[in-house]
Amino acid sequence: MSVVVLITRSAEETESLGASLASLVRDGDVILLEGDLGAGKTCLVRGLAVGLGIPAESVSSPSFVIAQRYDGPSRSLVHADAYRVDGPDRLAGIDLDEMLGEPRTVGAIEWASRLGDRRPARSIECRIRSEDGDRRRLEIRDRRGDAREAARLADALRTLFGAAVEPDGPTCPICRARPSAPATTPFCSERCRLADLSRWMRGAYLISRPLEPEEEPLN
Ligand code: ADP
Ligand code: MG
Repeated sequence: MSVVVLITRSAEETESLGASLASLVRDGDVILLEGDLGAGKTCLVRGLAVGLGIPAESVSSPSFVIAQRYDGPSRSLVHADAYRVDGPDRLAGIDLDEMLGEPRTVGAIEWASRLGDRRPARSIECRIRSEDGDRRRLEIRDRRGDAREAARLADALRTLFGAAVEPDGPTCPICRARPSAPATTPFCSERCRLADLSRWMRGAYLISRPLEPEEEPLN
C-alpha cells in the first residue's frame, strides 16, 4: 500500500480538499479522520459536505450526538465523531453500520480509532497533523481494497494538490518524515537524530512502569 502525503496552508485549503474528495469517492465509501483536537478534521468534513451540495454551516463537530446524517441533492453524508466514545455502551442505540450502508451515502468519522473493532475496515484513512501555524500535513491511506480506485484517487490528489505518493512504511520518530538516508535511520536526518539524543539527555523520555530491582541504576 502507498500513502498520499499533502500539505494544506489554510482552513480553506483543507476544506477545498474535502470538496474534491466528494467527487472522488464512491457511494458507500467512508473516510476515517484521525488527528488531535483542532487538527482540521471537521474542516475537511465541511468541505466534503460542500462538495456533496450540503451547506457547510450545517456541519459542526457533533461531539455530543456521535452521528448525524445530512441529505444532499444526490448523496447523503453521515458524519460521526467518536471523540466521546469511551466504551461500547456509548454506541448502544446507534447503528453506524446501518447509517453508513444506506444507498448513495458517503461517511466521515472523526476519532475513528475510538470505535475499536467497530471501525469500518474498508475505508479511506486520513491522518491530519498540525505543523507550524496554519500548516497541516495530511496522510491518506486507501484501505478500500481496490488498487485501481486507490491509484485513481492518488493521481487526482497529486494533480489537484501536488500530493506526494510514497511507499507506506516507518516514519521518522521525531518529525514523521520518511527516512531517506540509511545512515540516520530510523531518523530522517542528522538533525532529527540529534533532536532525539537531546530529548534523552533532558530526561524527556519517561519509563512507563516502575523499575525492577535489577534495572535500578547502580550507585
Ligand atoms: P478538529 O475537528 O480536528 O478538532 P477543526 O476542523 O474543528 O478541528 O478545527 C481546525 C481549526 O484549525 C479551525 O479553527 C481552522 O480554522 C484552523 N486551521 C488553521 N489552518 C488550518 C488548515 N490548514 N486546515 C484545517 N484547519 C486549519
Ligand atoms: Mg472535529
